[in-house]
Amino acid sequence: MYYANSLSSDFAWPSDTFSSSPYFNDRGLNGTAQPITERIHPHSRPIVSYYFPKGVGAHHYGERHPMKPARLTLTNELVFGYGLHNQIHNIYDVRPATREELEVYHDSDYLDFLSRVTPANQSEMRNLIDKFNCGEDCPIFADMYDFSRMYAGGSLAGARKLCAGTTDIAINWSGGLHHAKRGEPSGFCYVNDIVLAILELLRYHPRVLYIDIDIHHGDGVELAFYQSDRVMTVSFHKYTGDFFPGTGKLDDNGYGTGKNFALNVPLLDGIDDDMYLTIFKTIIEDTVASFRPSAIVLQCGADSLGSDRLGAFNLSIAAHGECVNFVRAFNVPLLVLGGGGYTLRNVCRCWTYETSVLVGVSIPNELPRTVYDSFFADSQWKLHPPLSGRVENQNTPASLQRITISIRNKLRYLQGAPSVAMQEIPPDIQGFLKDEERSQEELEEEISTATAGEQRADTSIARNEFFEGDKDIDHDSPPTPPPPSRARGSTKRGRGRGGRGRARGRGRVSSTSVVDDDEDDDDDEPPAPSRKSTRGRGRGRAGKTRGVASESKRSPDLPTEADSDTPNGKL
Ligand SMILES: [Zn+2]
Repeated sequence: MYYANSLSSDFAWPSDTFSSSPYFNDRGLNGTAQPITERIHPHSRPIVSYYFPKGVGAHHYGERHPMKPARLTLTNELVFGYGLHNQIHNIYDVRPATREELEVYHDSDYLDFLSRVTPANQSEMRNLIDKFNCGEDCPIFADMYDFSRMYAGGSLAGARKLCAGTTDIAINWSGGLHHAKRGEPSGFCYVNDIVLAILELLRYHPRVLYIDIDIHHGDGVELAFYQSDRVMTVSFHKYTGDFFPGTGKLDDNGYGTGKNFALNVPLLDGIDDDMYLTIFKTIIEDTVASFRPSAIVLQCGADSLGSDRLGAFNLSIAAHGECVNFVRAFNVPLLVLGGGGYTLRNVCRCWTYETSVLVGVSIPNELPRTVYDSFFADSQWKLHPPLSGRVENQNTPASLQRITISIRNKLRYLQGAPSVAMQEIPPDIQGFLKDEERSQEELEEEISTATAGEQRADTSIARNEFFEGDKDIDHDSPPTPPPPSRARGSTKRGRGRGGRGRARGRGRVSSTSVVDDDEDDDDDEPPAPSRKSTRGRGRGRAGKTRGVASESKRSPDLPTEADSDTPNGKL
């Protein structure tokens, strides 16, 4: 049973632990989600489905690697701690994506490699490790293929359910790995679950809008659909030319049929809430009006928050969540995914808050008690700690206006372009052909419930199992030593300076608060779950930098590897 729900107003804590807590007055017993009454309409409240592949948070990239899947465990803990599971319509464990599902986008030889390589056989697979550009950012770690199949399975299941029309919003915080390419990993991403999910959505949806608020450019997704007019990609990111992945400049806008269907919003260090929300809302509103998507995929990378270990923006959790709320309000079928985010305690706060936004409930600023309580002590257990002001804002109203005007011009062109048919496009014929290859049983299950392959989780059991497997999260093995760098001749991409984690490109830091890039590395390690409250209550509830990649160098009109990366000739 959810612990906080069991608390009653006359509950008496043991005096030897509770009364000694210095936070007695700070910490109410109201840590559960409450519906926002004005949004409760039986016919308008969206159906929300929440996906978490069991055990996904137990994986480890390596002790010093900034990507820590344990953030998913922490997010889940807060989501359940707030009682949000009582407000979510469907919570699913989900089967991993199959090899066949991954092959819809990814190259067969790359998947062979991913499925075979392990930390133990690295030496004999050195040539392939180099061939596929694994290294510092994308190390070989135990069960990395299983991990990739898990998060991809969640995004695919969400897409299937959206296609079936049995949910309005699907959430998979373990997905959103937007850098992976069809034949190689990139920027901590091995399999591109977003591309796979969009391809699934395209079987039934004529136009899919992809929005990316990660601080890094959503290059893998943009590249996959660079020549498609059925997928519009809009990425808001830091762009300096040398900040990973080095792509995403204002004038990279798609090619061929996809010309003007890729939008990039390049921002500078330190952007604040007001500026970000202004440009985000302006551009998204115009984009939705012009493109008229029938489904939206929103990548919610949390490294755009202030104080992120690898990021350099000043966004608060409230502002990040307001972007999510703004997109939700279009009432278009919505797939919400995670992404980057490297200051773990803020990532899980952010995605928990955004879960509440999506289900339409308010949650208090007071974090619920969890087995990870000590991890949140830095903020006095608040959901919305101050995160901004650590990096000087280098954006100006004029620079943002220039970007907005440029993008509005592109959208205006899009509306008038004769090649852009805005009528309903029949579902992809290939999707239908593929259907015929499925078993009748699979089809019936998918059509009737859109839950083929996934199991509805018994929330109480699933939750326990979920963090049961994460008890060893502090016992990472040492990171895999990076292999020698290698540029792929075919893509003409050289390795940039250092890994992605090093190529932070953090800009000028304000004098009032100096951020040491590395000082927060260690204290961001989540603690082992503790049954003993640190708040004295004694019963806490249980790239490799590719440098300037080819995309950034190319003229927007020149065909590049997008030719071979387009997953479907029609796209
Ligand atoms: Zn990122």
